[in-house]
Amino acid sequence: MNSRCASVSRLIPFSCVDGPGSRLALFLQGCNLRCKNCHNPWTMGRCNDCGECVLHCPHEALSLSAGKVWWQSDICQQCDTCLHMCPQQATPMAQNMSVEEVLEYIRKAVLFIEGITVSGGEATTQLPFIVALFSAIKTDPQLQHLTCMVDSNGMLSETGWQKVLPVCDGVMLDLKAWDSACHQQLTGRDNTLIKQSITFLSGQGKLAELRLLVIPGQVDYLQHIDALAAFIKRSGNVPVRLNAFHAHGVYGEAKAWPSATPQDVEQLAQRLRERGVDNLLFPALYL
Ligand code: SF4
Ligand code: SF4
Repeated sequence: MNSRCASVSRLIPFSCVDGPGSRLALFLQGCNLRCKNCHNPWTMGRCNDCGECVLHCPHEALSLSAGKVWWQSDICQQCDTCLHMCPQQATPMAQNMSVEEVLEYIRKAVLFIEGITVSGGEATTQLPFIVALFSAIKTDPQLQHLTCMVDSNGMLSETGWQKVLPVCDGVMLDLKAWDSACHQQLTGRDNTLIKQSITFLSGQGKLAELRLLVIPGQVDYLQHIDALAAFIKRSGNVPVRLNAFHAHGVYGEAKAWPSATPQDVEQLAQRLRERGVDNLLFPALYL
């Protein structure tokens, strides 16, 4: 039995938006970026059991015992009060799950899914768990047909990728801005490592999808369109998913940012097509 554990913020048995086909999606807690546009900002941090949220839970679903916060899922009303007040941008509802426990969920869903996607937060902050989980899937006769994918922000070294690639079928990765200064402004970190990840993964044939997020007035794709298009072309004919920002669920200054319109997305698409990048995927809906 594999007892390696991860802090899991959410498990969705059937998802159609986390990679190709129907997939079980596992969201790991913790992130190494601080994106202003994050739609799940409470997945960024790790709970330190400070207890601040306990008294504020309107449904008494939280308690503090032996220096640890406990969450009762059967009482919780999913009101999200605890998420909004946590100083760590964490959640008391994240659960430690072992590889074996996740495999149990996968076995129950196996007839209805094509694979699993590990997302976040930033999934690769818990890389040893991912390697153990994917290895267990790939060696289980009942599960080994499932594809194993990672949804990542790309903040992982080549050495890290080399650990997971032998058991990983593909990575979906975001490039949140072209210029490092703009990326730093949006996420708190520069994007040198992310570009290296894109280049490395495409060279290994494991870059399943590159994602660009259109945030009007905030991202710099159009200002650097020649360099961006040339970079994407060097990464092969990888599918490029164009996502449209909307403010639903974000905290802080991004709440006031305007949503991206179909025209905003089409403008970027047109500029990319003119430069030979035409394997484009579009938002299913706009908010
Ligand atoms: S979830 Fe946040 S507020 Fe609640 S105990 Fe953990 S760190 Fe403290
Ligand atoms: S979401 Fe948080 S605050 Fe709301 S009932 Fe559940 S534990 Fe309590």
